[in-house]
Amino acid sequence: MKSISKQISFALILCLFSSISVTAQNQKHPKLIVLLTIDQLRYDYISKYWARYGDGGFKKLVSEGFYQANTHFSYMPTFTGVGHATLGTGTTPAIHGIAANNWYDRVSKKKMYCVSDEEVNTIGSKSDAGKYSPKNLRSSTFAEQLKMANSASKTIGIAIKDRGAILPVGHFTDGAYWFDSDEAKFITSSFYRSELPKWANEFNQLNLPKKYLDQDWNTLYPIETYTVSTADDVPFEKAYKGEEKPVFPHKTKELSKANGLGMVKNTPYGNTFTVEFAKKAIIGEDLGKDKFTDFLSISFSSTDYIGHQFGPHSIEIEDTYLRLDQDLANLIQFLETQVGQNEFLIVLTSDHGAADIPAHVNGSAQYFKNEELKKELEEYSELLYQVNLIEAIANEQVYIDYEQLNANNLDFSEVKSSFMEFLKLTEGIVVVSDPANNWCIGEKTICERIANGYHSKRSGDLFFVIEPGWLGSYNEKGGTTHGSPFSYDTHVPLIWYGFNTKAGIDYTLTSIKDIAPTLSTLLGISSPNGATGMPISNFLNSRATR
Ligand code: ZN
Ligand code: ZN
Ligand code: ZN
Repeated sequence: MKSISKQISFALILCLFSSISVTAQNQKHPKLIVLLTIDQLRYDYISKYWARYGDGGFKKLVSEGFYQANTHFSYMPTFTGVGHATLGTGTTPAIHGIAANNWYDRVSKKKMYCVSDEEVNTIGSKSDAGKYSPKNLRSSTFAEQLKMANSASKTIGIAIKDRGAILPVGHFTDGAYWFDSDEAKFITSSFYRSELPKWANEFNQLNLPKKYLDQDWNTLYPIETYTVSTADDVPFEKAYKGEEKPVFPHKTKELSKANGLGMVKNTPYGNTFTVEFAKKAIIGEDLGKDKFTDFLSISFSSTDYIGHQFGPHSIEIEDTYLRLDQDLANLIQFLETQVGQNEFLIVLTSDHGAADIPAHVNGSAQYFKNEELKKELEEYSELLYQVNLIEAIANEQVYIDYEQLNANNLDFSEVKSSFMEFLKLTEGIVVVSDPANNWCIGEKTICERIANGYHSKRSGDLFFVIEPGWLGSYNEKGGTTHGSPFSYDTHVPLIWYGFNTKAGIDYTLTSIKDIAPTLSTLLGISSPNGATGMPISNFLNSRATR
């Protein structure tokens, strides 16, 4: 009897030990999580340039990682600040409050820039380029939850664009660094610290922008091999200031004399520069060096600047991606050496896509005249109510003048409904919505994306959506943009790579707001406090060990 009970208890102990070891195995965390946001990375760029990518960059991430090929933003407007806030917080503008890059502020009656903060100062240069903070962000981020779970975890945000650096990490963080175009160096704001760290100063002293721009921008390979792109010299590309035609070689050495070294951000060198700064940060801040998971957000802004200027089918954008592919290979190799193979997790995605250029497509898409619409709506208001009730139109949203509305004893619902009728009949408008009243004329998917993008204090009273492929008349001068609720703006790649991620591809509809809750679940910590996204079960199940 005795020996049987001994055997049983021995077996029990064994069971206990093995279950502990399973738990311990599951609880092993990556030393470093790297969020790579490629500004304006369209879904099709992965396949379009696949044959031209090297083995160590995009191809490695896609073939060895878990590729979620049907990932979308679930709101409009699809802009940079909004996208980065959604990546950080795991929720939509309705909750995180970053309702646009610039929204109309009813209190100050001025445009509010998403990360502007008059109470903070620039650290690292003499310009005003550091007067930014996450003050307007209304939800915590994954990075903040990570730090709250253990203050030994370090979190840092880096980008050429201030909003691309600040919004993914949020308030409670070890720092955010962005580019000051005036002085061509990385800076921060007094919101984060009182002086630049030594490693950042040392980096700035290298004056890399000058070294890059002095090389001019030539295509990486012979120009005749860029067969998936349009001709180099087309009327719908925009030349650099001081350049006669938008063609290679772009003589950046000469151009930078008039434009300043800040123009490095408008060339592929901006991405190389960002990677070099990130590498310095990883070393300088000892990221990924202990058992407490660190978080580094790197956003590549130059892809967006170049995309706007030359469009998604230009040789310029193809060359930018071939070069970025090399920068990514360089970064991955660095992480393998510095942090260790399989010790880091990369999440690669984007903040929005971009539209094809209407003048290139030459189809039904046209240029929408925003200024004309404002004039016509004002006239319509005068005609109907004998007063101009349009306070502002911004981001395809109409802000109604509440003071005039009250002063004239007008019925808010009636006014909105009459303006909706007007908008509905306007050429180039396909969906109209009054999101506060849950009233939308148009296709349900688009109406939902409007509701998710509506913030009660910062958005306009009415939303309108211009037809697919249409751009605002500003873009008639050339180039393209984004912001719509259509797939060319909402559909972006999402790739998980490293830290025991199993290779796979998944076509299930996935939302960008699910990324932060997925990271939280992976680490067993709380999701950001405003998160409405859900952990991505397909990705988590693919790596589950029991
Ligand atoms: Zn962007
Ligand atoms: Zn060109
Ligand atoms: Zn953009």
